[in-house]
Amino acid sequence: MTKAPPLKNDCFALPPGVHWTPVDDALELLRGRLHPVVTQETVDLDAAAGRILAQDIAALRDHPPLPNTAVDGYGFDGGLDAGEHALPLVQGRAAAGLRFNGAVPKGAAIRILTGAALPKGVTTVVLQEDVVVDGDTVHLRGPVKAGANTRKAGEDMLAGQTILTAGRKLTPADVGMLATVGLHDVPVFTPLRVAILSTGDELLHPGQTAQPGQIFDANRPMLSAMVRAWGYDVVDMGIQPDDPASIRAALDQAALTADVILTSGGASAGDEDHMSAVLNETGSMALWRIAIKPGRPLALGVWNGAPVFGLPGNPVAAFVCTAIFARPAMALLSGQGFETGQGIMVPAGFAKRKKAGRREYLRARLVDGCAQVFASEGSGRISGLSWADGLVELPDGALDITPGTPVRYLPFSALGL
Ligand code: AMP
Ligand code: MG
Repeated sequence: MTKAPPLKNDCFALPPGVHWTPVDDALELLRGRLHPVVTQETVDLDAAAGRILAQDIAALRDHPPLPNTAVDGYGFDGGLDAGEHALPLVQGRAAAGLRFNGAVPKGAAIRILTGAALPKGVTTVVLQEDVVVDGDTVHLRGPVKAGANTRKAGEDMLAGQTILTAGRKLTPADVGMLATVGLHDVPVFTPLRVAILSTGDELLHPGQTAQPGQIFDANRPMLSAMVRAWGYDVVDMGIQPDDPASIRAALDQAALTADVILTSGGASAGDEDHMSAVLNETGSMALWRIAIKPGRPLALGVWNGAPVFGLPGNPVAAFVCTAIFARPAMALLSGQGFETGQGIMVPAGFAKRKKAGRREYLRARLVDGCAQVFASEGSGRISGLSWADGLVELPDGALDITPGTPVRYLPFSALGL
């Protein structure tokens, strides 16, 4: 088992003089600076769905392994011309798992059932619905094409052929395909371990008694649910007060047990922004002032070798930054490729005049094929996130949107959420 090399401390450094980073540049930086940090293990096929393939997989045998019939019917050699045909039936039958070991003479037919290997002397099968059997004779009407209703050996997959490549997150269909070619031990990456930490003196656990001025920690449960939806393991680091020593201790602990750390709150450059201050002490911190709405302050750093995403405290901004930046970054760390989610262009069901400068993400829903957006863009309005089925992504430049203007819609399903 080889451990991946650690990330460099300066892996998030921005070129000098850069103040506002466009979203695409930020994504390119992440793509270029990060690499897989997980190790390999082998799991049983039954436990493989949702795991990430660590090696290319070649088929262990041809599928189908032998030429066989796709239907229940009668088999014979070659095609038949137009007109009536009467074929003598040989004794016995061929069924799936029950090979017929004799040979079928030219001009004769045999009873054959779906999945049965074609006996010697059979290349063509006619559907049982298309024949009349009278004693030992099969009557049918031609023409019948040679090879009809049969499957060739290896027509689906050939032994030795690469059928899945490393980095693939295994789907239920993949599991079926791997089983088909006889694979049972599957090489996968260990799940990425993601530490999640909320910071803020005002935060309480849901269920605690709140004083006025206190709020419940929404980010940690939400981010944990996102991380689990992506198939990673959550390391819960709880809530830390706005206190550098507590934050340092929590990051120390997180870096010991996790591959990547997500924090929320205190990520800007204000007096109470202790997360960015603490990350700054490492010399690894880069406060990425990303040209994005909502959520511009994104503090990135490396703490004892673990990359840290210092997300904004605002829950909507934390969600968007996690979905847009942390998701592809974690995919890369976890052994998958860097993948930002496929959007679709749909007509806007709203009007908006967008200024140039920042890429904007609006909470949205598809209604009759058009994107509707949440009534308020207030980034504290988490109810709009829950209302939404996805995000509308508006480009960095200015845009005057009227109903019908094509906009990019990113369904939550395309973000794995
Ligand atoms: P901050 O980024 O720490 O300045 O926080 C920005 C806003 O988000 C403030 O209104 C915070 O109270 C709020 N906030 C920070 N962390 C959380 C959290 N974990 N859950 C809910 N709201 C939060
Ligand atoms: Mg705060």
